[in-house]
Amino acid sequence: MTPPTLWDQALAQLDRGAQRLGLEPYIVERLRHPKRILEVSVPVRRDDGSVKVFRGYRVQHNVDRGPAKGGIRYHPDVSLDDVAALAFWMTMKCAVVNLPYGGAKGGVVCDPKTLSEGELERLTRRYASEISILIGPDKDIPAPDMNTNEKIMGWIMDTYSSQVGHSVPGVVTGKPVEIGGTLGRREATGRGVFFIVQELARVKNWQLKDLRIAVQGFGNVGSNAARILREAGARVVAISDATGGVADPAGVDVDDARRHCEKETLATYRKGRPLTNRELLELDCDVLIPAALENQITAEVAPRVKARFIVEGANGPTTTEADRLLNERGVTVVPDILANAGGVTVSYFEWVQDLQAFFWDEGEVRDRLRAILLRAFQDVWRVAGENKTDLRLAAFLVALDRLAKAIRQRGLFP
Ligand code: NAD
Repeated sequence: MTPPTLWDQALAQLDRGAQRLGLEPYIVERLRHPKRILEVSVPVRRDDGSVKVFRGYRVQHNVDRGPAKGGIRYHPDVSLDDVAALAFWMTMKCAVVNLPYGGAKGGVVCDPKTLSEGELERLTRRYASEISILIGPDKDIPAPDMNTNEKIMGWIMDTYSSQVGHSVPGVVTGKPVEIGGTLGRREATGRGVFFIVQELARVKNWQLKDLRIAVQGFGNVGSNAARILREAGARVVAISDATGGVADPAGVDVDDARRHCEKETLATYRKGRPLTNRELLELDCDVLIPAALENQITAEVAPRVKARFIVEGANGPTTTEADRLLNERGVTVVPDILANAGGVTVSYFEWVQDLQAFFWDEGEVRDRLRAILLRAFQDVWRVAGENKTDLRLAAFLVALDRLAKAIRQRGLFP
């Protein structure tokens, strides 16, 4: 039997939430079909003069609550199916934190490690040009995702601006600050994960300093979450990246590991006991933060997880079957659409600042981020309590209820 795809998982979550809410079948049917799917070919001149054609996608899942919003991923394994599922989760994520956005996602099938800087820029600019028929500050606003960063967002902003003949900073978020980016965006998702752990500790009456935390993935989300948690007094007992990881029951020196990873990977980091990614997921700890890839906590891993809480920094790190097993075992999972919503929330702040051409200081960004995430956490926690459900279903109930209200109020054209 072929394993369920990400899109299958997304639909299973949709059905579970819709059934519980008793949503009208026409609303569910609309959400089962992405609004727009664009597949593009991206011809790029290589440094040796040859031309290679890459495949790219942009999917807008839904725009009933506002313009579509979602990142762009560069990865050899990107598929249309995955991009559609990630766009669906963006719709849900924006609804659960109550941002006035729908959901989108983009991707280019490529391995950025094999591209020179010039090739990466030409690929980005051509992809941006190909999807420019869909994107725009009031239509669809891309952002970084795996293997894309500030510099790439700057190229997208410049390409789009060149096409329309004037600067449009609000077409993309996660840009450099000098061209309309916001303070606090780089670390926003990790900081959001931290606010969620902090709130979880508060409702559970724990002290942060008593928590042992394991973080899988040491990129933007994982390394910032680990750094901020450690600064706040929590003990980060293990970290890992694609090459391996380290554990230290006394606490990993996250800043030191971050400095190490500027030039190397964790495979060569010697301070602590080496461990594999699988061992990290099964480590004795209080909070596990998967912040790398999808499908890491599988049905095989779930029965062996020792953490009491999982806070999903990554998108889709827990398979549907694993989620069920974790629930049965009483492990609380704070779902991705809530736990990693800090990134899109600060992206929203960036877009608002761009539209107003009026910029905030970092403290204002942090305070507003905290306020939005705490409110979302409390909404989900309350709905979970009222309905006696897990937090993932509760988050879907909150999001789907908001989305269904918007769909009903807009009605159906024609
Ligand atoms: P990143 O590219 O900066 O970092 C990814 C990290 O995961 C790296 O340390 C990499 O080595 C590690 N990794 C890759 N394959 C692995 C494997 N098989 N096992 C263990 N580690 C592995 O990416 P990121 O921006 O930190 O994104 C991580 C996850 O968070 C993704 O699921 C992404 O969709 C999600 N996310 C990111 C943001 C954001 O603002 N960057 C926002 C929301 C969600």
